Amino acid sequence: MGKIWANSGDSHLVEPDDLFETSLPADLAARMPRSVKHEDGRHETLYVDGKEFVRSMPSATLLVDENGKSVTDRAPGANDPVLRLKDLDQEGIWAEVVYPSIGIWTSSIEDPALLAAGASAINDWSITYQQSSLRYVCTATIPLLDVDDAVAEIRRASALGFKAGFFSVVPPAKDDWNYPSWEPVWEALSETGMVLAFHIGTEPFAGDSFAGRYLRGPGGAILNYMETTYGGQRAVSKMIASGVFDRHPTIKVLVSEGGATWGPFVADRLDEAYRQHGSMVKPKLNRLPSEYLYESVYASFQHDRSAVPAMTAMGWKNVLWGSDYPHLEGTFGHSQKVLHELFDDISEADRRRMTVGAFEELFPHVLAAPESEV
Ligand code: MN
Repeated sequence: MGKIWANSGDSHLVEPDDLFETSLPADLAARMPRSVKHEDGRHETLYVDGKEFVRSMPSATLLVDENGKSVTDRAPGANDPVLRLKDLDQEGIWAEVVYPSIGIWTSSIEDPALLAAGASAINDWSITYQQSSLRYVCTATIPLLDVDDAVAEIRRASALGFKAGFFSVVPPAKDDWNYPSWEPVWEALSETGMVLAFHIGTEPFAGDSFAGRYLRGPGGAILNYMETTYGGQRAVSKMIASGVFDRHPTIKVLVSEGGATWGPFVADRLDEAYRQHGSMVKPKLNRLPSEYLYESVYASFQHDRSAVPAMTAMGWKNVLWGSDYPHLEGTFGHSQKVLHELFDDISEADRRRMTVGAFEELFPHVLAAPESEV
């Protein structure tokens, strides 16, 4: 089997344990998100801004590589931007959108000052990670409790060199994505050209619902994994329905880790609502909702077989692959197997679009991927 090289629309860096201690005053550092693994290896406690939650962790031994060997919970290069490139080369992953790991829980911080300071600290560190290779597109963590803070960090991050901003699928602020209070944020994204990158499963913790636990009872593990899927679809729908893309047609949105087949489905549902409930629709849009989704929204998937025909048969050109390196939901240890299973039976042009082209359209500055050997 020849090697397929693919860019990844969904990867993560792993922050150093002492990131906040070394960058923030002690009282702030103590309230930033951190995870403490239990001795049983099956649970961890997440601490965020005075709240704590125990959750069970997926078992790493369930994962096996191409040779049937079990894959450990972390890829060797997960903590090191240089070692990481060896992992990526071995897997056939070229450039990556790199989200935080611990930093994705910042949406559960409730103090705007803490969030703004913490986001800056993460970004000051992750920009150095990005600078270590032209294959990394690190996402800047945007503090979303306060619109002015968000705008300031988008501008600062853009000046530092970030090309994408990480947004939680539900904002921690009072107003949801379809409210006009976010207008300055859309303006800042338009001005800077920063890609709005939603990572699924990033809803703020609320009461009993935290860290991807939405439902309980039999089947919970599967049901909660499914629940994480919907947040990106809702976020995109809110932006389209409220006319964000009418006012800011150049904004590009990436939804990472939530599959991609939902794109054509959601586009159809939005269009049906727009047409059939036309008399109740406010605001009116310049174009059909599906046109905004097909044009301005991109989605990355890992294993989903049905994501390929979302592009090849249903015509959504903005489908891209993602490895989710180094997380357990991802393809580490079996990326080549996955890439071949997904893409061997389609045209070279379609394979290139999903493995390389859609990514390069979002991030034209990245180092071009080597030619695949197929
Ligand atoms: Mn991910």
